[in-house]
Amino acid sequence: MKAMSESKKKIIVVGGGIAGLTAGIYGRQAGYEVDIYEKNPIAGGQCMGWNRKGCHIDNCIHWLTGTKKGTSLRRVWETVGALEEHTEFADCDSFYTGITGNSCVTLWKDLERTESELLKLSPEDETEIKKFVEHVKYAEECDMPAEKPMDAFGISDYIHMGASMANMPKVMKEYGSIDLQEMAGRFKHPALKALFTDYLPKEYVASSFLVSYATITSGNGEIPKGGSLAMVNRMVKRFESLGGKLYCNTPVLRILIENKKAVGIETTDKKVMLADYIISSVDTMEMFGKLIGKKYMDAKWQSCYKDMDKYPLFSGVQAAFMVDQEVYDEKGTIFFDCPSFKIGERKVDRISVKGYEYEPEFAPKGKIVLQVNIPQFDKEYLYWKGLTKEQYKKLKEEAAAAIKERLLIQFPKLQGHIEFLDCWTPITYERYCNAYHGAYMSFITRKGVKSFRVKGIVKGIKNLYIASQWIMAPGGLPVAVTAGKFAIWRIARKDKKSLSMV
Ligand SMILES: Cc1cc2nc3c(=O)[nH]c(=O)nc-3n(C[C@H](O)[C@H](O)[C@H](O)COP(=O)(O)OP(=O)(O)OC[C@H]3O[C@@H](n4cnc5c(N)ncnc54)[C@H](O)[C@@H]3O)c2cc1C
Repeated sequence: MKAMSESKKKIIVVGGGIAGLTAGIYGRQAGYEVDIYEKNPIAGGQCMGWNRKGCHIDNCIHWLTGTKKGTSLRRVWETVGALEEHTEFADCDSFYTGITGNSCVTLWKDLERTESELLKLSPEDETEIKKFVEHVKYAEECDMPAEKPMDAFGISDYIHMGASMANMPKVMKEYGSIDLQEMAGRFKHPALKALFTDYLPKEYVASSFLVSYATITSGNGEIPKGGSLAMVNRMVKRFESLGGKLYCNTPVLRILIENKKAVGIETTDKKVMLADYIISSVDTMEMFGKLIGKKYMDAKWQSCYKDMDKYPLFSGVQAAFMVDQEVYDEKGTIFFDCPSFKIGERKVDRISVKGYEYEPEFAPKGKIVLQVNIPQFDKEYLYWKGLTKEQYKKLKEEAAAAIKERLLIQFPKLQGHIEFLDCWTPITYERYCNAYHGAYMSFITRKGVKSFRVKGIVKGIKNLYIASQWIMAPGGLPVAVTAGKFAIWRIARKDKKSLSMV
């Protein structure tokens, strides 16, 4: 097949999630012609929201790393239009709250407030509490490199990074070789033990949790007003205003490879489009498994996908409800114990509910949306996957009813004031995003296991780049946005272009 026009080189991006849109925007800025092909009717992928019964259900942003002005990640979010100079953020004063027995404990945005409340609750945990708070302060320095890929770092880049995050090694030393379960085990008070395994899967290395909480306490992890869908729409607008073309409802069947070089794509309606470069921003198992073929999956990828004990993935069963605001006095995300029940073969005796009181526009006047998310791992995915259509529908309804029942036990005032909106599972993520086993983050970093990171190229295929949250654990929005930028950085460097636009 013939290459594209000589004047302006063309890039095709497969997938219009955060990574794909970012690649599109940086690609246009670097002077490439860019077309994005997205299977769904709208762009956004996992960063999504939808409407039910006059309410808006936000499926993604619990916190957006990189909201602090002056950080390199903030500059990337501004470049892609996700954040603007005056973007407003949700008025949230806590990370989350855990209720255990009669104790209610919150990780506040204000770290001093957290410290004093934790000490008041459990003076006998003083040493561990003070150590935790001290290391969260250290972790506030953590600034994700977003200028260029780390494999392109020179000595001066490392020196600069080391100097700006001088205290991070202390966090890694204290919390980088234990998981959250072990960290929780260091505390004596049952409410603190529960608190530290509430938010992230207990298999996560503890340092990830400290970095997450530090993102909140340092003001670098806000929620942009309007939520996930509004942010995606701003990015689409930026891409199109730069002259990029977004083709929705256009699933890609395969990436065309000739003489070990990616030369174009074929869509499911058998149309062939050629380009100088292809960027795959779809789930990487969709890419290896369907678009290019598993023979291109090297040992590093294979070992992760094969060893789910070492590299677990997670998804969730979620349910959303509309409630009368006057009978719901809580704020933020709350974890609480509940009568045990099964969700996809997983015994659940503690759940979380997130209230969207900070987004009045998400519900009719006087109402707010509540959402419950119950983690599901590979075993649960296989359970949901093995059901017939009828069983799936029935069990999903039962799950939603069981969740509602538990909300009513915890918050009895909701009786007669709560209406079911929607329920979705790992199968929903698989269907909507082609997400491998419904996972919406990349591989979990466990203690003692090397954190997964690859360059975003495919060995054996030239001109094919990967821009996806999957290229670096644990994935998430910051990884997706930098992966999109870095794919263009590599292409521009290959073409010997000025990297100032990237
Ligand atoms: C409930 C939930 C909460 C989350 N909370 C947070 C949070 O608070 N903070 C955070 O940082 N991250 C969060 N995340 C994770 C975040 O949403 C993802 O990390 C990110 O959106 C992934 O972006 P991506 O572009 O790499 O992949 P995706 O979003 O998966 O994008 C891939 C795109 O490719 C499309 N596609 C797939 N196959 C094809 C094909 N064959 N042809 C054409 N198009 C195709 C898909 O439809 C999709 O649009 C959350 C996710 C979920 C679901």
